Amino acid sequence: MVELDKITGESMSEQNHKQVIIVGSGPAGLTAAIYAARANLEPIIFEGDQPGGQLTTTNDVENYPGFAEGITGPELMDVMRKQAVRFGAVSKFEYVTAVDFSSKPHKVSVGDKEYTADAVIIATGASARYLGLPSEQKLKGFGVSACATCDGFFYRDKEVFVVGGGDSALEEAGFLTKFASKVYLIHRRDEFRGSKIMRKRVLDNPKVEVLWNTTIDEVLGEPDKGGVVGAILKDTVTGETREQAIDGIFMAIGHTPNTAIFKDQLKTDETGYLITKPDSTATEIEGVFAAGDVRDHVYRQAVTAAGNGCMAALEAERYITEMDD
Ligand code: NAP
Repeated sequence: MVELDKITGESMSEQNHKQVIIVGSGPAGLTAAIYAARANLEPIIFEGDQPGGQLTTTNDVENYPGFAEGITGPELMDVMRKQAVRFGAVSKFEYVTAVDFSSKPHKVSVGDKEYTADAVIIATGASARYLGLPSEQKLKGFGVSACATCDGFFYRDKEVFVVGGGDSALEEAGFLTKFASKVYLIHRRDEFRGSKIMRKRVLDNPKVEVLWNTTIDEVLGEPDKGGVVGAILKDTVTGETREQAIDGIFMAIGHTPNTAIFKDQLKTDETGYLITKPDSTATEIEGVFAAGDVRDHVYRQAVTAAGNGCMAALEAERYITEMDD
């Protein structure tokens, strides 16, 4: 027997089939939703466990074009969502638990509820890695940041730590010297992982001091009392600890793309990022597109993710049109 919806009278299977399903709700997912909705594709967005994505953990966004006075991360994502919904996108605060791209239409599951779609846009982003200290978690957004491009500006003439020894840490340390009076680069080993040219640049920079063989044991400060004031540092060779006053701490120990549920179905690079065709958001599976940080470990900006979301929606639209021909 076909189960009918009590309000619309549609069969549940008709209701659960969508032209476009968007997984993820950062700038890539919501921009894809705006474009897909304006193309009358009535997309549904599964927002995931962090609606609005990484930007919702950033206070002031001052580099997103169009906001001369800046805007907070949560506000920016809120207006993007409203814009998508205004054109007919449906936003669901639900978490996709599984996908099956082995046959068409593609299947997307939210718990025991199954949807099908002609096109799926994956925009699940990446999560910055943190050290995992309770004191660090408590002070996230209050002096602990994982985005120098977003928050560096607030550390004019202040002293900051950058944690990590890869290209991101080296790049962020250099970038932060434009604002900070002093940047301490904290690395757990005695040599950098980052490239030769970046290493040289950092070591030649008089504002950067490298604290080799060092880790952070605890971040000091209270969110309601001005945030980070210092940290307890540990020497990884001797095990000795000491306290150092500091105004801000930037984590640059890598990002983890949120691709766990796609790994068996789509190609990823060795670090887990989804692979798309050159100059395209198309994956190797027809009708499945990937946009934003889930496929980009280089730029990782809200504006580049948004641009990518736009591309994914245009490509999905073209794919659906050709499918119908
Ligand atoms: P990465 O290369 O994986 O480096 C992560 C760094 O963080 C490593 O030095 C690692 O230490 C350290 N680390 C990891 N976990 C840690 C922990 N729990 N405690 C303390 N330190 C920890 O990541 P990335 O720097 O973000 O770079 C990712 C990719 O993007 C790389 O391929 C990089 O070349 C590329 N990238 C390129 C550019 C550029 O070309 N302009 C800029 C940024 C990134 P160990 O070294 O001891 O493992």
